[in-house]
Amino acid sequence: MNLLLMGLPGAGKGTQAEKISEKYNIPHISTGDMFRYAMKEGTELGKQAKSFMDQGALVPDEVTIGIVKDRLSKADCANGFLLDGFPRTIAQADALQSLLSDMNQEIDYVLHVNVPEEKLVERLSGRRICPTCGRAYHVMYNPPKHEGICDKDGQALIQRDDDKPETVKNRLAVNIEQSKPLLDFYDRKGYLVTVNGDQDIELVFQDIQSIIEK
Ligand code: ADP
Ligand code: AMP
Ligand code: ZN
Repeated sequence: MNLLLMGLPGAGKGTQAEKISEKYNIPHISTGDMFRYAMKEGTELGKQAKSFMDQGALVPDEVTIGIVKDRLSKADCANGFLLDGFPRTIAQADALQSLLSDMNQEIDYVLHVNVPEEKLVERLSGRRICPTCGRAYHVMYNPPKHEGICDKDGQALIQRDDDKPETVKNRLAVNIEQSKPLLDFYDRKGYLVTVNGDQDIELVFQDIQSIIEK
């Protein structure tokens, strides 16, 4: 099963992706996680991505398309994949279409996690992530069992640099502008399904499962 998760920053893509990936046994491929990992490791890719991410801007298409192409060619994608945060531009969506056609694959669903824009700032500013496994928590809506500590591996949680107020506004503006043409693109192809992301995490997941299993 080949799935795409779309939605504005803070909509809950990563939170749902972890559940989908576990239940349906397909790899969760998040371009944002890949960039953050590269930055932490200080690789060339990380250096390339950093200045864009720090400003809440998009990393250039050539770079982003390149890492997705490499990732989709790995053996664990043979039975399907879950893309989170990619594509974010029409150029990326076009590149993905041609990559998939080379692989003889098709998208099954584009799941659009929809949350009213005015709720996103609160979601992003309360988000805390585990620097090791990437899991996202929220100080109010999805707190860890022990404050400030990842449930999975005991690491101390951190706030993403780009979740700080200076960057959040620009990220939202950039993504709002880019998202509409992309949603139209996938709607025209008949892949798009909109999920109400403004409800409890488990209820969002139930809606996603009923779409996938229909
Ligand atoms: P995205 O990957 O789309 O940027 P995340 O999955 O990281 O979003 O979620 C953003 C923040 O909102 C996190 O702090 C997360 O714990 C919280 N969150 C995710 N889903 C919900 C939900 N349904 N209700 C309330 N908070 C949520
Ligand atoms: P995310 O973790 O999805 O919120 O992404 C964090 C940041 O990584 C974004 O603000 C961008 O700077 C960069 N990024 C992630 N995915 C993409 C993409 N598909 N295209 C361009 N930049 C991206
Ligand atoms: Zn962790």
